[in-house]
Amino acid sequence: MDSIGLPDLAITLQSRDNQGLTPLHYAAISNTAEMMERLLQLLEEQGLLATLIDDKDLDGWTPLHWACRRSNDAIVELLIAKNANTSAKTRDGWTPRYIAILHGNSHTAYLKDLPDTGEAGEDLPDGADQGLVAYCDVCFVTVYWKYWHCASPDCDDFDLCDKCYKHADQIHPPGHEFPPRVGYV
Ligand SMILES: [Zn+2]
Ligand SMILES: [Zn+2]
Repeated sequence: MDSIGLPDLAITLQSRDNQGLTPLHYAAISNTAEMMERLLQLLEEQGLLATLIDDKDLDGWTPLHWACRRSNDAIVELLIAKNANTSAKTRDGWTPRYIAILHGNSHTAYLKDLPDTGEAGEDLPDGADQGLVAYCDVCFVTVYWKYWHCASPDCDDFDLCDKCYKHADQIHPPGHEFPPRVGYV
């Protein structure tokens, strides 16, 4: 019997979407520790963990960068326990620590395990200390700093975070303008 239609597990685990996200990125986004634990185990069994633990999406974000947008200690600690690079930088030069702080996660237990590289950008940018600003309508992360608001009359109240805004042309109707907004509204 042939295996047409039955995806090989190793291929599935290495697949990526049009933003360059692998299943491990999605496990970090899911915010579910059980899913992350199971997936890490599968990757280890398939000999793929070392290749995928620090794999970067189109913006240079590793699974750990994504996990640091949330306050889930278990998810971050699971990745660090598997030697995720805690100093990895996105294309914008953001470390996991910077992303955690930018998303209001300074109070987490995991922050102590993320090194302060001492470089510029480890502190909040201007306007990022004013509390809840908006929710991203694509990835549902709370934005504490700059976000982009759709100005089209077709959209009632549609906001994008800094990350999703980079791909607005692919995830939102073309022709909609997104003026940036910073600070509390
Ligand atoms: Zn988003
Ligand atoms: Zn719109």
